[in-house]
Amino acid sequence: MADAILRVNDLYTGYDGIPVIFGVSLEVMPGELVAIVGANGAGKTTTMRTISGLNHPLKGNILFEGTDISKFAAHEILKLGISYVPEGRRIFSKLSVEKNLSLGAYTEHSKTEIRRRLEELLEIFPVLGDRSKQIAETLSGGEQQMLAIARGLMSRPKLLMLDEMSLGLMPSMVEKMMDTITAINRTGTTVLLVEQMVQEALEIAHRGYVIQSGKIVQAGTARELLDSEEVRKAYLGM
Ligand code: ATP
Repeated sequence: MADAILRVNDLYTGYDGIPVIFGVSLEVMPGELVAIVGANGAGKTTTMRTISGLNHPLKGNILFEGTDISKFAAHEILKLGISYVPEGRRIFSKLSVEKNLSLGAYTEHSKTEIRRRLEELLEIFPVLGDRSKQIAETLSGGEQQMLAIARGLMSRPKLLMLDEMSLGLMPSMVEKMMDTITAINRTGTTVLLVEQMVQEALEIAHRGYVIQSGKIVQAGTARELLDSEEVRKAYLGM
């Protein structure tokens, strides 16, 4: 079996030395689309922040392509090929769509290469092409979310981490978002996403982890989790 692109081992992490994540272990294989699902406050964002270097482990470690990145700074982790799109549409609201995207490729200096990436991305996000000169804050919520993801892809990450992309979107837009994430994964980008929308996330994921109060309480293929009695009762309202 191939080696995991990302391996989190017995991770403890939190804020001001106080853990909110207790012994989380998970792995992502190259090419996979993996979902971490759980309720509000379960620890999804904290886990993502720690993988991307914005928080640091109190205990345990994080391996990316075999390298221990636990003590690396966020910019070093980005350079290695992990792109983190946080929740809350962090885009440059006063800049154009095109400018936002170009800034996402800030590790790349060749204008030709940046243009090539832009063109590729516009195939996945045609709406951004229609709006390339528009100021980002005038986009709809869903379009801003798409822009945040597209910007995260401009650095050509090996692993794209998406935090609650469905937050605040209307149902039809959530569906579109999930289709877009599937399309990104099919182009070969490995994806790790966290979601409170458990059903929607597991419908597109290959595998998933259920996190509760800072611990992984269930893991399996997306199908297994969707069929699991515990998951259905706790998260799918069945
Ligand atoms: P949400 O969907 O609401 O973002 P989550 O599953 O992502 O939830 P986290 O944001 O990781 O959960 O929060 C996990 C725990 O850590 C919660 O108990 C939360 O109160 C706590 N926490 C989050 N951010 C901080 C912070 N900056 N300082 C202290 N505690 C925090």
